[in-house]
Amino acid sequence: MPENLDIAANLAEIHARIAHAEGAGKRAADSVQLVAVSKTKPAELILEAIAAGHLVFGENRVQEAQAKYPEIKARHPAVKLHLIGPLQTNKAKSAVELFDVIETLDRPKLARALAKEAARAGHCPECFVQVNTGEEAQKAGVAPAEADALIALARDELGLPVTGLMCIPPLDEPASPHFALLAKIAARNGIDKLSMGMSADFELAVQMGATHVRVGTAIFGSRPPAAPPGEAGT
Ligand SMILES: *Cc1c(COP(=O)(O)O)cnc(C)c1O
Repeated sequence: MPENLDIAANLAEIHARIAHAEGAGKRAADSVQLVAVSKTKPAELILEAIAAGHLVFGENRVQEAQAKYPEIKARHPAVKLHLIGPLQTNKAKSAVELFDVIETLDRPKLARALAKEAARAGHCPECFVQVNTGEEAQKAGVAPAEADALIALARDELGLPVTGLMCIPPLDEPASPHFALLAKIAARNGIDKLSMGMSADFELAVQMGATHVRVGTAIFGSRPPAAPPGEAGT
């Protein structure tokens, strides 16, 4: 193992930092859900987090999640799993089966596929609409100007439980304008949940209204270099 990994201690530290940021941002205590991002990490580390009392996890690829989580969820039914990576329509069925929250609804075709699979399954994960706040060509997410229309289609026309928005700000820019834009789009659409902030910037995100922060490295240690964006598709 590359680092001296104490998952329980890392979780405790992140919780303390979230609590501090809640105070600094005049947010209510315990208003932020930590999503522990376990991508590339083995089940044994996830089980350590569960043993430490943590139950909410994120994965960015359907296939990897299918390999790890059915067994974990069978043993620990209270575990909740968020999909935080791009979703292909041909994996919508598997995603509806496995995930409790799909944070990456970003196009009409996917909304229709999810609605169809949810109807077939008789249940539907909560859906967050991913907004490409930086309008980066290589990044998933609906363009900010098209977000209201996608929310209207998914929630009002198709009846999907669209409860949140998610963004991944550009790496090379200050995150705060992106967090602010996401909050603005949510407010005008009557949406309460905001998934924003990662290991490097979750405290800022909490101060700016995040209800969900997605933290991987600071809990589970570093990962091998990521595949280029776009190839990280599920
Ligand atoms: C990997 C990933 C994270 C976690 O990133 P860290 O910097 O390791 O905290 C958060 N959100 C998304 C969408 C990711 O793919």
